[in-house]
Amino acid sequence: MGEDYPVDQLDFEERFATEQACLDYLAKLRWPEGFVCPRCLHASAWMVNRQRRMCTKCLYPVSVTAGTIFHDTRKPLRLWFRAVWHVTSQKHGASALGLQRVLGLGSYVTAWSWLHKLRRAMVRPGREALSGCVEVDETYVGGLAEGKRGRGSQKKALVVIAAEEDGAGIGRIRMARIPDASAPVLEGFVVQAVVAGSQVHTDGWDGYNGLSGRGYRHDISVLRGQGKEAATQLLPRVHRVAALLKRWLLGTHQGAVRAEHLDYYLDEFTFRFNRRTSRLRGKLFYRLLQQAVQIGPTTYQTMVGGKPLTAPNSNQ
Ligand SMILES: [Zn+2]
Repeated sequence: MGEDYPVDQLDFEERFATEQACLDYLAKLRWPEGFVCPRCLHASAWMVNRQRRMCTKCLYPVSVTAGTIFHDTRKPLRLWFRAVWHVTSQKHGASALGLQRVLGLGSYVTAWSWLHKLRRAMVRPGREALSGCVEVDETYVGGLAEGKRGRGSQKKALVVIAAEEDGAGIGRIRMARIPDASAPVLEGFVVQAVVAGSQVHTDGWDGYNGLSGRGYRHDISVLRGQGKEAATQLLPRVHRVAALLKRWLLGTHQGAVRAEHLDYYLDEFTFRFNRRTSRLRGKLFYRLLQQAVQIGPTTYQTMVGGKPLTAPNSNQ
């Protein structure tokens, strides 16, 4: 359908005034080339009701929202669409309280869980890895709120950041919370985040020594001065990103981010940063919904437990 999205508030309200309109929009995002049966790949279906289709070949029933973040929702899709519209319009990110107010939700917990589902959708499955010249460095993110479990929960976390060089500026970024700065962890991150053959620019830390053996052109800048200032000059892009991330966590979220939820916030920051030049609100709305119909449902339980860290796979 090309990139078809609302251009402003009025357009949004007119387009998505009914459940049917929302379902039709999701169906187009999910099957841009027309229906394809997830079981037998046959390309035609009967409409059973406004939400369900049935494959005309294998009779498999398919719901538009099955397997997406809207799976089994008891709330109208119109409300979900308003949530997405709200979230994508907040320049610095939405808060659960703000979302609860805008949607008139009775429960803060519902608003919170919606926000986290949308954050999960901000990471597109199979998104493209960075390429060209990429700076990589780790940084501590502090000021995190104490977790529910109290004792033993960290107040700071180690985050690795990759930032593409785009002239003197920054291209796309990727980031992840990591347990330590060991070679398997750092190499695992780079392998996932950066296309092989790219030039990876790091400091002289041993943990990056294996990169050239993994198909990267490894460019090392040895820090001569005192730690932090020197790093800021030698790897200016990752340090600019780190500073923006920290300011965002403190400013927008007022230091209320719990360590176990940090992954979600890193995803949101990355989504916003990588689309910082697409000023059109409608385009962000389109992207977020497009990604929302591509991923599996996230239950409140798994969100409360935090997202498991993707194990750096030393084989790939
Ligand atoms: Zn089928």
